[in-house]
Amino acid sequence: MIVAAGCSDSKTNTQEKVSTEKTAASEQPTQSTEQPMPAPTAKQTNPTIISQNKELPSAGGNLTVHFLDVGQGDSILLEHGDDGMLIYSGEIGKGDDVATYIKNEGIMSLDYVIATHPHSDHIGGMSVILNDFPIGHFVDSGYAYSSKTYENMLKAIDKKNIPFETPKRGDKINFTSGIDVYVLNPGSTYFTDDVNQNSVVLKVTDGKVTFLLMGDAGIQAENEIMKDGYNVDADILKVGHHGSRTASGTPFISAVSPEISVIEVGAGNDYGHPHQETLDRLQKVSKVYRTDLDGTITVTTDGSSYSVSTEK
Ligand SMILES: [Zn+2]
Ligand SMILES: [Zn+2]
Repeated sequence: MIVAAGCSDSKTNTQEKVSTEKTAASEQPTQSTEQPMPAPTAKQTNPTIISQNKELPSAGGNLTVHFLDVGQGDSILLEHGDDGMLIYSGEIGKGDDVATYIKNEGIMSLDYVIATHPHSDHIGGMSVILNDFPIGHFVDSGYAYSSKTYENMLKAIDKKNIPFETPKRGDKINFTSGIDVYVLNPGSTYFTDDVNQNSVVLKVTDGKVTFLLMGDAGIQAENEIMKDGYNVDADILKVGHHGSRTASGTPFISAVSPEISVIEVGAGNDYGHPHQETLDRLQKVSKVYRTDLDGTITVTTDGSSYSVSTEK
């Protein structure tokens, strides 16, 4: 059976919403001194792929983005020198694997942890992460949601006194020097009753190399980001919503024009992800990597070129 939208626990998204209490966080990373997000500009020179299936020699200045194979779910680790940012944690039961992976990279604390949205395939493993690592900042979509996993996560963040932030479109996240991280979604108002569309979408730029990380955001969010005039052009796209047909609309994919598309997806998942028409659209413009076929996918960049390596 093919389910067009929603994550594995979408049924728990009842009308009865629970306030996060902290959504109006005073710690939003809005810097008045920061330049606003640049308006759409001409396409930048594309970096070249200098190698495949082979990592660059490690240098402190490189940015490495790990797209972890956590089955059906998302987990992305950004590593820059000693600084680490984790985006999503995978499904319940995947937290230990993710924590071990992070520690094996030599990262013992995380500057940022980001829950793009509260579906359990994105935050299920978060209790382990919250337990195992000192965390500098916790970023959340701020969209109220009722589930035990989400409520327990909020309680643990509160108990550990981790600054809780709900940035909006145009805000910048101060992750690490030399790397720009902009929030493209959610906007100033939330989509009602659609958790996925309110996903935190991040644009991460290191010099000439840009990553666009979509969470489970879909076509509505894509259209709103573009309508608001944001430049979505990117070299590496973490495809929205596991390659669902509810995301990666034609106008959006042509605006992003990725060279590399990464789909985080589990083999034989109940949703039929990735959907064939989405794959076709992505394959026309980019090389597509999938965690179900390639295992963990790692992209390393020095800001002018990048290399991709795969586990399988
Ligand atoms: Zn998902
Ligand atoms: Zn979702």
